[in-house]
Amino acid sequence: MKKIKQYVFPALILIVFEAVAVTLWLTKDNIFYLFNFSYIGISIAFGLVLLQRKYRYARRVVQLLVGTYMLVYLGLICGENMQIEGFWYYLFTGVFEAATIHYAVAKIFGPLIFGRGWCGYACWTAAVLDFLPYRVPQNPRKKLGWIRYVTFTLSLIFVAALFLAHVGNIERIMFFAFIAGNAAYYAAGIALAFAFRDNRAFCKYICPVTVFLKPASYFSVIRIKCDKNRCVGCGRCRKVCPMDVDVTDNSRSRKNGTECILCMECVKNCPKDAL
Ligand code: SF4
Ligand code: SF4
Ligand code: SF4
Repeated sequence: MKKIKQYVFPALILIVFEAVAVTLWLTKDNIFYLFNFSYIGISIAFGLVLLQRKYRYARRVVQLLVGTYMLVYLGLICGENMQIEGFWYYLFTGVFEAATIHYAVAKIFGPLIFGRGWCGYACWTAAVLDFLPYRVPQNPRKKLGWIRYVTFTLSLIFVAALFLAHVGNIERIMFFAFIAGNAAYYAAGIALAFAFRDNRAFCKYICPVTVFLKPASYFSVIRIKCDKNRCVGCGRCRKVCPMDVDVTDNSRSRKNGTECILCMECVKNCPKDAL
């Protein structure tokens, strides 16, 4: 019975993705959506099964499967700008395609259910940053989160300016913006990780996508909770958390609660199985 139970959650996630896949395939009459969301759903469900089986690299496997697919196949081969600029671009053109669908599912409405699962399991930027040496932050968090609003606004201004100036062939510009944007993200992410001795410094201070992710994940259905009857207050969970979340506080307003990427490090390291 226990063995069957561990497949229930991955199966539910797969069903949700298949529902999105079939709905978009039929409503938009485009079989790509069936392939796209089925692939992502199967990859995530597979990773969750590995996680249940306590496979050490489960999360990395999903990051590799989903992140590489989006960056290399959708971004570089298909020429879709999957970054925030691509989202603004498709939004302005009024086309509910590629980046707008991706943002709606993974970063705007999806986080109401699975929080910042995107950040823990699928983001191709973090997939690289997670290989750097400071998995656990070596320094206290800095009050630099305001920078994300600047980068968010700049991305919007950049795309709006292209439209207002009636620049020709914006689609081509968006493709090069995708390459340049990713190069900038990786460069800034790696530099910040070493400067702050924290792999996820870019996520904490710079990433514009968090402007969408944080408010939605506040209401997330899926979140780590602490069994107060088991917890002995050893603090191990906070020590291993890459995002400085106070996971022992079950309230929605817990410290850095909207930063949780569901990486499960706290769960794996709790000596009392309280999480
Ligand atoms: S915060 Fe931004 S860079 Fe970091 S994992 Fe999330 S989407 Fe990726
Ligand atoms: S690691 Fe477990 S026991 Fe220790 S403080 Fe965290 S939840 Fe409590
Ligand atoms: S260690 Fe726990 S609280 Fe911290 S980000 Fe990972 S899952 Fe969330």
